[in-house]
Amino acid sequence: MSSFKDLGLSEETLAVLATKGFEQPTPIQQMAIPALLQGSKDIIAQAQTGTGKTAAFGLPIMEQLQSDHSVQALILAPTRELALQVSDELSSFKGARNITIASIYGGASMVEQLRRLKRGVDIVVGTPGRVLDHIHRGSLDLSRIRWFILDEADEMLNMGFIEDIENIFQQTPENRRVMLFSATMPDRIVKLSKKYMPDRELLKTETNQDATPLTDQIYFEVSISDRLDALTRIIDVEPEFYGLVFCRTKLTVDEVVSNLLKYGYSADGLHGDITQIAREKILMRFRNKQINILVATDVAARGIDIQELTHVINYSLPQDFDAYVHRIGRTGRAGKEGTAITFISPKEYRQLMQMQRVIKTTIRKEQLPNVHDVIAVKQARIKDELAAIKELGTYSEYLPLAKELIAEHGAEEVLASLIRLAYKNELDIKNYAEIRQFKVDKRGTTRLFIAMGKFDQMTPKNMVDFLKKNTHLTDSKIDDVRVMDSFSFVTVPFEDAEQALHSLNRLRQGGKPLAEVSSEDKRPDDNKRRKPREYAGKRPDDTRRKPREYEGKRPDERRKPREYEGKRNDRRPRR
Ligand code: AMP
Repeated sequence: MSSFKDLGLSEETLAVLATKGFEQPTPIQQMAIPALLQGSKDIIAQAQTGTGKTAAFGLPIMEQLQSDHSVQALILAPTRELALQVSDELSSFKGARNITIASIYGGASMVEQLRRLKRGVDIVVGTPGRVLDHIHRGSLDLSRIRWFILDEADEMLNMGFIEDIENIFQQTPENRRVMLFSATMPDRIVKLSKKYMPDRELLKTETNQDATPLTDQIYFEVSISDRLDALTRIIDVEPEFYGLVFCRTKLTVDEVVSNLLKYGYSADGLHGDITQIAREKILMRFRNKQINILVATDVAARGIDIQELTHVINYSLPQDFDAYVHRIGRTGRAGKEGTAITFISPKEYRQLMQMQRVIKTTIRKEQLPNVHDVIAVKQARIKDELAAIKELGTYSEYLPLAKELIAEHGAEEVLASLIRLAYKNELDIKNYAEIRQFKVDKRGTTRLFIAMGKFDQMTPKNMVDFLKKNTHLTDSKIDDVRVMDSFSFVTVPFEDAEQALHSLNRLRQGGKPLAEVSSEDKRPDDNKRRKPREYAGKRPDDTRRKPREYEGKRPDERRKPREYEGKRNDRRPRR
Protein backbone atom coordinates (compact mmCIF):
# COMPACT_ATOMS: atom_id res chain seq x y z
CA MET A 1 0.00 0.00 0.00
CA SER A 2 1.41 3.36 -0.91
CA SER A 3 2.11 6.27 1.38
CA PHE A 4 1.23 9.92 0.79
CA LYS A 5 4.82 10.44 -0.32
CA ASP A 6 4.58 7.73 -2.98
CA LEU A 7 1.59 9.52 -4.45
CA GLY A 8 3.82 12.38 -5.58
CA LEU A 9 2.79 15.04 -3.08
CA SER A 10 5.22 17.82 -2.15
CA GLU A 11 7.08 18.10 1.15
CA GLU A 12 4.91 21.04 2.07
CA THR A 13 1.72 19.02 1.69
CA LEU A 14 3.27 16.06 3.49
CA ALA A 15 4.05 18.33 6.42
CA VAL A 16 0.45 19.56 6.52
CA LEU A 17 -0.86 15.99 6.46
CA ALA A 18 1.45 15.07 9.31
CA THR A 19 0.05 17.87 11.45
CA LYS A 20 -3.46 16.67 10.63
CA GLY A 21 -2.50 13.22 11.81
CA PHE A 22 -3.23 11.51 8.48
CA GLU A 23 -1.03 8.44 8.31
CA GLN A 24 -1.96 6.72 5.13
CA PRO A 25 -3.97 7.69 2.09
CA THR A 26 -7.45 6.23 1.94
CA PRO A 27 -8.26 4.00 -1.07
CA ILE A 28 -9.90 6.82 -3.01
CA GLN A 29 -6.93 9.10 -2.27
CA GLN A 30 -4.53 6.44 -3.51
CA MET A 31 -6.30 6.34 -6.81
CA ALA A 32 -7.36 9.92 -7.31
CA ILE A 33 -4.27 11.85 -6.20
CA PRO A 34 -1.82 10.41 -8.79
CA ALA A 35 -4.53 10.53 -11.46
CA LEU A 36 -5.14 14.23 -10.81
CA LEU A 37 -1.47 15.10 -10.45
CA GLN A 38 -0.40 13.40 -13.65
CA GLY A 39 -3.20 12.38 -15.98
CA SER A 40 -5.44 14.53 -18.08
CA LYS A 41 -8.69 12.59 -18.24
CA ASP A 42 -11.83 13.53 -16.42
CA ILE A 43 -12.54 11.29 -13.49
CA ILE A 44 -15.61 9.62 -12.08
CA ALA A 45 -15.09 8.20 -8.65
CA GLN A 46 -17.49 5.96 -6.87
CA ALA A 47 -16.84 6.81 -3.27
CA GLN A 48 -19.09 7.17 -0.27
CA THR A 49 -19.41 9.94 2.23
CA GLY A 50 -16.49 10.21 4.61
CA THR A 51 -13.99 8.32 2.50
CA GLY A 52 -11.51 11.17 2.33
CA LYS A 53 -12.82 12.55 -0.95
CA THR A 54 -12.00 16.13 -0.11
CA ALA A 55 -8.30 15.43 0.25
CA ALA A 56 -8.48 13.19 -2.84
CA PHE A 57 -9.28 16.16 -5.05
CA GLY A 58 -8.18 18.97 -2.75
CA LEU A 59 -4.53 18.03 -2.34
CA PRO A 60 -3.71 17.75 -6.07
CA ILE A 61 -5.55 21.01 -6.70
CA MET A 62 -3.59 22.78 -3.97
CA GLU A 63 -0.35 21.43 -5.41
CA GLN A 64 -1.05 22.77 -8.88
CA LEU A 65 -2.96 25.94 -8.26
CA GLN A 66 -1.30 29.23 -9.13
CA SER A 67 -2.67 31.38 -6.45
CA ASP A 68 -3.54 34.59 -8.30
CA HIS A 69 -7.01 34.90 -6.80
CA SER A 70 -8.82 34.15 -10.02
CA VAL A 71 -11.24 31.26 -9.61
CA GLN A 72 -9.45 28.15 -10.79
CA ALA A 73 -11.37 25.46 -8.98
CA LEU A 74 -15.12 25.16 -8.55
CA ILE A 75 -16.57 22.55 -6.23
CA LEU A 76 -20.28 21.87 -6.14
CA ALA A 77 -21.84 20.22 -3.12
CA PRO A 78 -25.51 19.41 -2.49
CA THR A 79 -26.02 21.27 0.78
CA ARG A 80 -24.71 24.24 2.65
CA GLU A 81 -23.45 21.97 5.38
CA LEU A 82 -21.43 19.88 2.97
CA ALA A 83 -20.12 22.97 1.22
CA LEU A 84 -18.91 24.28 4.57
CA GLN A 85 -17.36 20.97 5.49
CA VAL A 86 -15.51 20.84 2.19
CA SER A 87 -14.22 24.39 2.46
CA ASP A 88 -13.09 23.84 6.05
CA GLU A 89 -11.28 20.68 5.09
CA LEU A 90 -9.66 22.40 2.08
CA SER A 91 -8.53 25.30 4.24
CA SER A 92 -6.85 22.87 6.57
CA PHE A 93 -4.63 21.70 3.69
CA LYS A 94 -3.34 25.15 2.76
CA GLY A 95 -0.31 25.24 5.02
CA ALA A 96 1.67 28.39 4.27
CA ARG A 97 0.24 28.76 0.78
CA ASN A 98 -1.61 31.92 0.02
CA ILE A 99 -4.75 30.28 -1.29
CA THR A 100 -8.17 31.79 -0.77
CA ILE A 101 -11.34 29.78 -0.60
CA ALA A 102 -14.90 31.06 -0.63
CA SER A 103 -18.00 29.11 0.18
CA ILE A 104 -21.17 30.35 -1.43
CA TYR A 105 -24.55 28.85 -0.70
CA GLY A 106 -28.18 29.79 -0.57
CA GLY A 107 -29.69 31.26 2.56
CA ALA A 108 -26.63 33.34 3.39
CA SER A 109 -26.05 37.00 2.71
CA MET A 110 -25.56 37.73 -0.97
CA VAL A 111 -23.78 40.99 -0.21
CA GLU A 112 -21.06 39.32 1.79
CA GLN A 113 -20.55 36.70 -0.91
CA LEU A 114 -20.36 39.36 -3.62
CA ARG A 115 -17.77 41.25 -1.64
CA ARG A 116 -15.74 38.09 -1.13
CA LEU A 117 -15.81 37.14 -4.80
CA LYS A 118 -14.92 40.66 -5.83
CA ARG A 119 -11.81 40.58 -3.66
CA GLY A 120 -10.70 37.54 -5.61
CA VAL A 121 -10.58 33.88 -4.66
CA ASP A 122 -8.79 30.80 -5.95
CA ILE A 123 -11.31 28.15 -5.00
CA VAL A 124 -15.07 28.37 -4.80
CA VAL A 125 -17.13 25.78 -2.98
CA GLY A 126 -20.85 26.17 -3.35
CA THR A 127 -24.31 24.79 -3.79
CA PRO A 128 -25.55 24.67 -7.41
CA GLY A 129 -28.40 27.18 -7.14
CA ARG A 130 -26.34 29.93 -5.55
CA VAL A 131 -23.36 29.30 -7.81
CA LEU A 132 -25.58 29.73 -10.81
CA ASP A 133 -27.00 32.91 -9.32
CA HIS A 134 -23.52 34.36 -9.10
CA ILE A 135 -22.69 33.30 -12.64
CA HIS A 136 -25.78 35.06 -13.92
CA ARG A 137 -25.00 38.19 -11.96
CA GLY A 138 -21.52 38.20 -13.40
CA SER A 139 -19.94 37.94 -9.98
CA LEU A 140 -18.48 34.50 -10.60
CA ASP A 141 -16.29 34.18 -13.65
CA LEU A 142 -15.62 30.61 -14.69
CA SER A 143 -13.37 31.37 -17.67
CA ARG A 144 -10.21 30.40 -15.82
CA ILE A 145 -11.54 27.26 -14.18
CA ARG A 146 -9.07 24.38 -14.36
CA TRP A 147 -10.89 21.97 -12.08
CA PHE A 148 -14.59 21.40 -11.78
CA ILE A 149 -15.57 19.03 -8.99
CA LEU A 150 -19.00 17.57 -8.34
CA ASP A 151 -19.20 16.21 -4.84
CA GLU A 152 -22.00 13.77 -4.00
CA ALA A 153 -23.35 14.06 -7.52
CA ASP A 154 -26.12 11.52 -6.94
CA GLU A 155 -27.40 13.58 -4.02
CA MET A 156 -27.37 16.73 -6.11
CA LEU A 157 -29.41 15.01 -8.80
CA ASN A 158 -31.81 13.64 -6.17
CA MET A 159 -32.30 17.17 -4.96
CA GLY A 160 -33.31 18.28 -8.42
CA PHE A 161 -30.17 20.21 -9.33
CA ILE A 162 -29.66 18.57 -12.71
CA GLU A 163 -30.57 21.63 -14.77
CA ASP A 164 -28.43 23.91 -12.67
CA ILE A 165 -25.53 21.53 -12.98
CA GLU A 166 -25.85 21.25 -16.75
CA ASN A 167 -26.08 24.98 -16.92
CA ILE A 168 -22.88 25.36 -14.91
CA PHE A 169 -21.13 22.71 -17.02
CA GLN A 170 -21.87 24.79 -20.08
CA GLN A 171 -20.18 27.82 -18.55
CA THR A 172 -16.92 26.04 -17.82
CA PRO A 173 -14.06 26.28 -20.33
CA GLU A 174 -13.19 23.35 -22.64
CA ASN A 175 -9.90 22.44 -21.08
CA ARG A 176 -11.03 22.15 -17.45
CA ARG A 177 -10.79 18.80 -15.72
CA VAL A 178 -13.90 17.37 -14.21
CA MET A 179 -14.00 15.09 -11.26
CA LEU A 180 -17.33 13.67 -10.27
CA PHE A 181 -17.86 11.84 -6.98
CA SER A 182 -20.90 9.76 -6.34
CA ALA A 183 -21.77 7.06 -3.84
CA THR A 184 -24.03 5.37 -6.36
CA MET A 185 -23.98 5.32 -10.14
CA PRO A 186 -27.56 5.64 -11.34
CA ASP A 187 -28.30 6.03 -15.05
CA ARG A 188 -28.67 9.76 -14.72
CA ILE A 189 -25.08 10.09 -13.59
CA VAL A 190 -23.84 7.89 -16.41
CA LYS A 191 -25.79 10.02 -18.90
CA LEU A 192 -24.48 13.25 -17.45
CA SER A 193 -20.93 12.00 -17.63
CA LYS A 194 -21.29 10.79 -21.21
CA LYS A 195 -22.53 14.21 -22.20
CA TYR A 196 -19.98 16.37 -20.43
CA MET A 197 -17.04 14.08 -19.75
CA PRO A 198 -16.43 12.10 -22.93
CA ASP A 199 -12.84 11.20 -22.07
CA ARG A 200 -13.16 9.86 -18.59
CA GLU A 201 -11.69 7.33 -16.24
CA LEU A 202 -13.67 5.43 -13.63
CA LEU A 203 -12.17 4.97 -10.18
CA LYS A 204 -13.86 2.55 -7.88
CA THR A 205 -12.83 1.32 -4.48
CA GLU A 206 -13.59 -2.29 -3.86
CA THR A 207 -16.32 -3.12 -1.41
CA ASN A 208 -16.67 -6.79 -1.48
CA GLN A 209 -16.69 -8.22 1.97
CA ASP A 210 -19.64 -9.04 4.09
CA ALA A 211 -19.60 -8.21 7.75
CA THR A 212 -18.77 -11.16 9.97
CA PRO A 213 -21.96 -12.85 11.09
CA LEU A 214 -20.73 -13.63 14.60
CA THR A 215 -20.28 -10.01 15.38
CA ASP A 216 -23.12 -8.19 17.04
CA GLN A 217 -23.16 -4.69 15.57
CA ILE A 218 -24.43 -1.77 17.56
CA TYR A 219 -24.26 1.96 17.17
CA PHE A 220 -24.67 4.78 19.64
CA GLU A 221 -25.43 8.36 18.84
CA VAL A 222 -22.91 10.43 20.74
CA SER A 223 -21.56 13.83 19.90
CA ILE A 224 -17.80 14.04 19.51
CA SER A 225 -17.31 15.76 22.84
CA ASP A 226 -19.10 12.96 24.72
CA ARG A 227 -17.23 10.08 23.14
CA LEU A 228 -14.71 9.50 25.86
CA ASP A 229 -17.45 9.30 28.49
CA ALA A 230 -19.42 6.95 26.29
CA LEU A 231 -16.36 4.74 25.88
CA THR A 232 -15.67 4.53 29.59
CA ARG A 233 -19.30 3.67 30.32
CA ILE A 234 -19.16 0.79 27.89
CA ILE A 235 -15.92 -0.48 29.38
CA ASP A 236 -17.34 -0.07 32.88
CA VAL A 237 -20.42 -2.20 32.36
CA GLU A 238 -18.51 -4.93 30.61
CA PRO A 239 -17.29 -7.63 32.95
CA GLU A 240 -14.28 -8.60 30.85
CA PHE A 241 -13.68 -5.88 28.33
CA TYR A 242 -10.85 -6.81 26.00
CA GLY A 243 -11.00 -4.64 22.98
CA LEU A 244 -9.58 -2.58 20.19
CA VAL A 245 -10.64 1.03 19.89
CA PHE A 246 -10.22 2.46 16.39
CA CYS A 247 -9.57 6.13 15.77
CA ARG A 248 -8.95 7.93 12.53
CA THR A 249 -5.88 9.89 13.44
CA LYS A 250 -2.89 9.44 15.65
CA LEU A 251 -3.78 12.63 17.48
CA THR A 252 -7.06 11.05 18.59
CA VAL A 253 -5.28 7.84 19.54
CA ASP A 254 -2.92 9.77 21.81
CA GLU A 255 -5.72 11.80 23.30
CA VAL A 256 -7.91 8.78 24.05
CA VAL A 257 -5.04 6.82 25.57
CA SER A 258 -3.88 9.63 27.80
CA ASN A 259 -7.42 10.24 29.06
CA LEU A 260 -8.04 6.55 29.72
CA LEU A 261 -4.80 6.33 31.65
CA LYS A 262 -5.70 9.42 33.61
CA TYR A 263 -8.96 7.77 34.69
CA GLY A 264 -7.15 4.64 35.72
CA TYR A 265 -7.90 2.34 32.82
CA SER A 266 -5.28 0.05 31.50
CA ALA A 267 -4.75 1.13 27.93
CA ASP A 268 -2.11 1.79 25.32
CA GLY A 269 -2.07 3.09 21.77
CA LEU A 270 -0.62 2.18 18.41
CA HIS A 271 -0.07 4.48 15.46
CA GLY A 272 2.44 5.19 12.78
CA ASP A 273 4.79 7.22 15.00
CA ILE A 274 5.39 4.33 17.35
CA THR A 275 8.63 2.48 16.71
CA GLN A 276 8.63 -1.17 15.80
CA ILE A 277 10.21 -2.10 19.12
CA ALA A 278 7.66 -0.18 21.16
CA ARG A 279 4.88 -1.61 19.01
CA GLU A 280 5.96 -5.16 19.72
CA LYS A 281 6.11 -4.47 23.43
CA ILE A 282 2.64 -2.95 23.43
CA LEU A 283 1.24 -5.84 21.46
CA MET A 284 2.84 -8.30 23.82
CA ARG A 285 1.24 -6.59 26.81
CA PHE A 286 -2.11 -6.57 25.06
CA ARG A 287 -1.79 -10.23 24.11
CA ASN A 288 -0.94 -11.11 27.71
CA LYS A 289 -3.88 -9.02 28.85
CA GLN A 290 -1.68 -6.76 30.93
CA ILE A 291 -3.61 -4.06 29.16
CA ASN A 292 -7.17 -4.67 28.10
CA ILE A 293 -7.72 -1.65 25.86
CA LEU A 294 -5.71 -1.04 22.73
CA VAL A 295 -6.40 2.18 20.87
CA ALA A 296 -5.17 2.26 17.26
CA THR A 297 -5.42 3.76 13.82
CA ASP A 298 -6.46 1.44 11.01
CA VAL A 299 -2.98 1.40 9.62
CA ALA A 300 -1.32 0.55 12.91
CA ALA A 301 -3.83 -2.19 13.65
CA ARG A 302 -3.08 -3.95 10.41
CA GLY A 303 -1.70 -7.39 10.97
CA ILE A 304 -2.74 -7.62 14.59
CA ASP A 305 -4.13 -11.06 15.05
CA ILE A 306 -5.68 -11.52 18.42
CA GLN A 307 -8.37 -14.11 18.77
CA GLU A 308 -10.44 -13.35 21.78
CA LEU A 309 -11.40 -9.72 21.57
CA THR A 310 -14.74 -9.05 23.17
CA HIS A 311 -15.12 -5.68 21.51
CA VAL A 312 -14.16 -3.55 18.58
CA ILE A 313 -15.07 0.07 19.11
CA ASN A 314 -15.25 2.46 16.22
CA TYR A 315 -14.48 5.59 18.16
CA SER A 316 -14.52 7.34 14.83
CA LEU A 317 -16.26 5.98 11.77
CA PRO A 318 -13.80 4.36 9.40
CA GLN A 319 -12.74 6.07 6.20
CA ASP A 320 -14.32 3.55 3.95
CA PHE A 321 -16.71 0.72 4.25
CA ASP A 322 -14.09 -1.94 3.71
CA ALA A 323 -12.22 -0.59 6.70
CA TYR A 324 -15.36 -1.06 8.78
CA VAL A 325 -15.60 -4.67 7.70
CA HIS A 326 -11.91 -5.13 8.45
CA ARG A 327 -12.17 -3.51 11.84
CA ILE A 328 -15.15 -5.46 13.06
CA GLY A 329 -13.79 -8.67 11.61
CA ARG A 330 -11.29 -8.60 14.44
CA THR A 331 -13.92 -9.61 16.88
CA GLY A 332 -16.27 -12.54 16.47
CA ARG A 333 -13.32 -14.79 15.74
CA ALA A 334 -12.63 -18.38 16.53
CA GLY A 335 -16.30 -19.12 16.97
CA LYS A 336 -16.66 -16.55 19.75
CA GLU A 337 -19.26 -13.87 19.70
CA GLY A 338 -17.98 -10.35 19.67
CA THR A 339 -19.52 -6.93 19.76
CA ALA A 340 -18.72 -4.12 17.36
CA ILE A 341 -19.73 -0.72 18.61
CA THR A 342 -19.76 2.37 16.47
CA PHE A 343 -20.09 5.92 17.72
CA ILE A 344 -21.77 8.30 15.36
CA SER A 345 -22.48 11.97 15.68
CA PRO A 346 -25.59 13.38 14.06
CA LYS A 347 -23.52 14.52 11.12
CA GLU A 348 -22.40 10.98 10.45
CA TYR A 349 -25.87 9.53 10.39
CA ARG A 350 -26.17 9.59 6.63
CA GLN A 351 -22.83 7.92 6.28
CA LEU A 352 -23.86 5.12 8.62
CA MET A 353 -27.07 4.51 6.72
CA GLN A 354 -25.18 4.46 3.45
CA MET A 355 -22.66 2.07 4.91
CA GLN A 356 -25.32 -0.37 6.04
CA ARG A 357 -26.76 -0.41 2.55
CA VAL A 358 -23.45 -0.91 0.81
CA ILE A 359 -22.09 -3.66 3.02
CA LYS A 360 -25.54 -5.17 3.40
CA THR A 361 -25.49 -5.36 7.13
CA THR A 362 -27.68 -4.22 9.95
CA ILE A 363 -26.26 -2.15 12.73
CA ARG A 364 -28.61 -1.93 15.64
CA LYS A 365 -29.11 1.25 17.57
CA GLU A 366 -28.85 1.13 21.33
CA GLN A 367 -28.67 3.64 24.12
CA LEU A 368 -25.65 4.07 26.24
CA PRO A 369 -25.74 2.51 29.67
CA ASN A 370 -27.05 5.07 32.09
CA VAL A 371 -25.14 6.17 35.14
CA HIS A 372 -27.26 4.06 37.51
CA ASP A 373 -26.38 0.93 35.55
CA VAL A 374 -22.72 1.78 35.62
CA ILE A 375 -22.80 2.32 39.36
CA ALA A 376 -24.81 -0.87 39.96
CA VAL A 377 -22.26 -2.86 37.98
CA LYS A 378 -19.44 -1.29 39.94
CA GLN A 379 -21.11 -2.13 43.23
CA ALA A 380 -21.58 -5.72 42.15
CA ARG A 381 -17.94 -5.83 41.20
CA ILE A 382 -16.81 -4.50 44.57
CA LYS A 383 -18.84 -7.24 46.25
CA ASP A 384 -17.23 -9.82 43.99
CA GLU A 385 -13.78 -8.56 44.70
CA LEU A 386 -14.38 -8.62 48.44
CA ALA A 387 -15.84 -12.12 48.24
CA ALA A 388 -12.79 -13.26 46.30
CA ILE A 389 -10.38 -11.88 48.88
CA LYS A 390 -12.37 -13.46 51.62
CA GLU A 391 -12.38 -16.82 49.91
CA LEU A 392 -8.66 -16.71 49.38
CA GLY A 393 -8.05 -15.60 52.93
CA THR A 394 -5.42 -13.05 51.89
CA TYR A 395 -6.43 -10.58 54.56
CA SER A 396 -5.19 -12.14 57.78
CA GLU A 397 -2.46 -9.61 58.46
CA TYR A 398 -5.11 -6.88 58.60
CA LEU A 399 -7.29 -8.59 61.19
CA PRO A 400 -5.79 -6.90 64.25
CA LEU A 401 -6.16 -3.46 62.64
CA ALA A 402 -9.73 -4.31 61.62
CA LYS A 403 -10.65 -5.26 65.17
CA GLU A 404 -9.16 -2.08 66.49
CA LEU A 405 -10.99 0.07 63.94
CA ILE A 406 -14.33 -1.58 64.56
CA ALA A 407 -13.97 -1.14 68.27
CA GLU A 408 -13.19 2.51 67.77
CA HIS A 409 -15.73 3.49 65.06
CA GLY A 410 -18.29 0.77 64.54
CA ALA A 411 -18.37 -1.77 61.70
CA GLU A 412 -20.58 0.04 59.18
CA GLU A 413 -18.73 3.32 59.37
CA VAL A 414 -15.36 1.62 59.06
CA LEU A 415 -16.40 -0.39 56.09
CA ALA A 416 -18.02 2.57 54.35
CA SER A 417 -14.89 4.65 54.98
CA LEU A 418 -12.68 1.91 53.58
CA ILE A 419 -14.79 1.61 50.46
CA ARG A 420 -14.53 5.35 50.10
CA LEU A 421 -10.77 5.16 50.52
CA ALA A 422 -10.46 2.39 47.97
CA TYR A 423 -12.92 3.63 45.37
CA LYS A 424 -12.85 7.37 45.97
CA ASN A 425 -16.00 8.86 44.50
CA GLU A 426 -16.42 6.24 41.83
CA LEU A 427 -19.89 5.37 43.04
CA ASP A 428 -20.99 8.97 43.23
CA ILE A 429 -23.45 9.89 40.53
CA LYS A 430 -22.21 13.47 40.45
CA ASN A 431 -18.95 12.30 38.92
CA TYR A 432 -20.47 11.16 35.72
CA ALA A 433 -20.71 13.68 32.98
CA GLU A 434 -24.06 13.93 31.34
CA ILE A 435 -24.10 12.49 27.87
CA ARG A 436 -26.43 14.23 25.51
CA GLN A 437 -28.92 11.86 23.98
CA PHE A 438 -29.79 12.60 20.42
CA LYS A 439 -33.14 11.02 20.06
CA VAL A 440 -33.87 10.03 16.51
CA ASP A 441 -37.14 8.55 15.43
CA LYS A 442 -37.77 6.30 12.52
CA ARG A 443 -38.19 9.21 10.18
CA GLY A 444 -34.63 10.18 11.00
CA THR A 445 -35.63 13.31 12.91
CA THR A 446 -34.89 14.71 16.33
CA ARG A 447 -37.16 16.74 18.58
CA LEU A 448 -35.62 19.89 19.97
CA PHE A 449 -36.69 21.87 23.00
CA ILE A 450 -36.32 25.63 22.71
CA ALA A 451 -36.63 27.83 25.75
CA MET A 452 -38.89 30.42 24.14
CA GLY A 453 -42.63 30.40 23.89
CA LYS A 454 -45.79 32.48 23.77
CA PHE A 455 -44.51 34.71 26.56
CA ASP A 456 -41.66 35.64 24.22
CA GLN A 457 -44.13 36.54 21.47
CA MET A 458 -43.53 33.25 19.71
CA THR A 459 -46.04 31.77 17.33
CA PRO A 460 -45.32 28.74 15.16
CA LYS A 461 -44.64 31.08 12.26
CA ASN A 462 -42.35 33.32 14.32
CA MET A 463 -40.50 30.25 15.50
CA VAL A 464 -39.88 29.05 11.95
CA ASP A 465 -38.64 32.50 10.98
CA PHE A 466 -36.46 32.67 14.05
CA LEU A 467 -34.90 29.29 13.26
CA LYS A 468 -34.33 30.21 9.62
CA LYS A 469 -32.67 33.42 10.62
CA ASN A 470 -30.42 31.99 13.28
CA THR A 471 -29.55 28.51 12.07
CA HIS A 472 -28.85 26.82 8.78
CA LEU A 473 -32.33 25.22 8.84
CA THR A 474 -34.60 25.83 5.91
CA ASP A 475 -38.41 25.57 5.75
CA SER A 476 -38.37 22.00 4.56
CA LYS A 477 -36.26 20.91 7.51
CA ILE A 478 -38.47 22.41 10.22
CA ASP A 479 -41.47 20.37 11.20
CA ASP A 480 -44.06 19.90 13.86
CA VAL A 481 -43.59 23.19 15.71
CA ARG A 482 -45.43 23.40 19.01
CA VAL A 483 -45.33 26.63 20.94
CA MET A 484 -46.17 26.47 24.64
CA ASP A 485 -46.18 29.38 27.11
CA SER A 486 -42.52 29.54 27.90
CA PHE A 487 -40.98 26.96 25.61
CA SER A 488 -41.46 25.23 22.28
CA PHE A 489 -40.76 21.97 20.53
CA VAL A 490 -39.64 21.56 16.97
CA THR A 491 -38.63 18.55 14.89
CA VAL A 492 -35.57 18.72 12.65
CA PRO A 493 -33.61 16.14 10.63
CA PHE A 494 -31.30 14.22 12.89
CA GLU A 495 -28.19 15.18 10.96
CA ASP A 496 -29.00 18.88 11.34
CA ALA A 497 -29.73 18.75 15.06
CA GLU A 498 -26.24 19.23 16.38
CA GLN A 499 -25.42 22.20 14.17
CA ALA A 500 -28.78 23.82 14.91
CA LEU A 501 -28.25 23.47 18.66
CA HIS A 502 -24.81 24.92 18.29
CA SER A 503 -26.07 27.97 16.40
CA LEU A 504 -28.96 28.55 18.80
CA ASN A 505 -26.87 28.22 21.90
CA ARG A 506 -24.39 30.69 20.56
CA LEU A 507 -27.14 33.30 20.75
CA ARG A 508 -27.25 33.06 24.49
CA GLN A 509 -24.08 33.82 26.32
CA GLY A 510 -23.95 32.22 29.71
CA GLY A 511 -27.03 31.04 31.57
CA LYS A 512 -29.10 28.10 30.55
CA PRO A 513 -28.87 26.80 27.02
CA LEU A 514 -31.48 28.18 24.69
CA ALA A 515 -32.04 24.86 22.98
CA GLU A 516 -31.48 21.23 23.74
CA VAL A 517 -32.52 17.82 22.60
CA SER A 518 -35.96 17.33 24.01
CA SER A 519 -36.02 14.80 26.78
CA GLU A 520 -39.75 15.06 27.21
CA ASP A 521 -41.07 14.67 23.82
CA LYS A 522 -44.73 15.06 24.50
CA ARG A 523 -46.23 14.11 21.20
CA PRO A 524 -49.08 11.66 21.79
CA ASP A 525 -47.76 8.98 19.49
CA ASP A 526 -44.52 8.93 21.38
CA ASN A 527 -45.62 6.33 23.81
CA LYS A 528 -45.95 3.92 21.00
CA ARG A 529 -42.36 4.33 19.96
CA ARG A 530 -40.11 1.65 21.19
CA LYS A 531 -37.18 3.03 23.10
CA PRO A 532 -33.92 1.52 21.95
CA ARG A 533 -32.67 -0.99 24.43
CA GLU A 534 -30.08 0.25 26.84
CA TYR A 535 -26.75 -1.36 26.33
CA ALA A 536 -25.94 -3.42 29.37
CA GLY A 537 -22.85 -5.19 28.18
CA LYS A 538 -22.88 -8.50 26.43
CA ARG A 539 -23.66 -10.64 29.41
CA PRO A 540 -25.87 -8.48 31.55
CA ASP A 541 -26.57 -11.07 34.20
CA ASP A 542 -22.99 -12.04 34.42
CA THR A 543 -21.88 -9.14 36.55
CA ARG A 544 -21.95 -11.29 39.61
CA ARG A 545 -19.10 -13.41 38.55
CA LYS A 546 -17.66 -16.40 40.26
CA PRO A 547 -15.03 -15.41 42.77
CA ARG A 548 -11.82 -15.35 40.89
CA GLU A 549 -8.26 -15.37 41.82
CA TYR A 550 -7.62 -11.94 43.10
CA GLU A 551 -3.98 -11.24 42.66
CA GLY A 552 -2.42 -10.49 39.32
CA LYS A 553 -5.61 -10.68 37.36
CA ARG A 554 -7.02 -8.00 35.23
CA PRO A 555 -9.57 -6.24 37.37
CA ASP A 556 -6.82 -5.53 39.76
CA GLU A 557 -4.55 -4.19 37.07
CA ARG A 558 -7.15 -1.91 35.72
CA ARG A 559 -6.83 0.10 38.84
CA LYS A 560 -3.55 1.81 39.11
CA PRO A 561 -2.17 2.19 42.59
CA ARG A 562 -4.30 4.73 44.31
CA GLU A 563 -2.97 7.85 45.78
CA TYR A 564 -4.22 9.47 48.88
CA GLU A 565 -7.37 11.27 47.98
CA GLY A 566 -6.21 14.60 49.25
CA LYS A 567 -3.85 14.93 46.35
CA ARG A 568 -6.42 14.08 43.76
CA ASN A 569 -9.02 16.67 44.54
CA ASP A 570 -8.26 18.77 41.55
CA ARG A 571 -8.52 15.89 39.13
CA ARG A 572 -11.54 14.63 37.45
CA PRO A 573 -12.33 11.44 39.29
CA ARG A 574 -11.42 8.12 37.89
CA ARG A 575 -14.32 6.20 36.57
P1 AMP B 1 -14.21 13.51 3.59
O1 AMP B 1 -14.65 12.23 2.92
O2 AMP B 1 -13.29 14.28 2.73
O3 AMP B 1 -15.37 14.28 4.10
O4 AMP B 1 -13.32 13.10 4.85
C1 AMP B 1 -13.87 12.52 5.98
C2 AMP B 1 -12.97 12.69 7.19
O5 AMP B 1 -11.81 11.86 7.07
C3 AMP B 1 -12.43 14.09 7.40
O6 AMP B 1 -12.58 14.38 8.77
C4 AMP B 1 -10.97 14.01 7.03
O7 AMP B 1 -10.21 14.92 7.77
C5 AMP B 1 -10.62 12.59 7.35
N1 AMP B 1 -9.58 12.04 6.48
C6 AMP B 1 -9.46 12.17 5.14
N2 AMP B 1 -8.38 11.50 4.69
C7 AMP B 1 -7.79 10.92 5.75
C8 AMP B 1 -6.62 10.10 5.93
N3 AMP B 1 -5.88 9.73 4.90
N4 AMP B 1 -6.32 9.72 7.18
C9 AMP B 1 -7.10 10.09 8.23
N5 AMP B 1 -8.21 10.85 8.14
C10 AMP B 1 -8.56 11.27 6.91
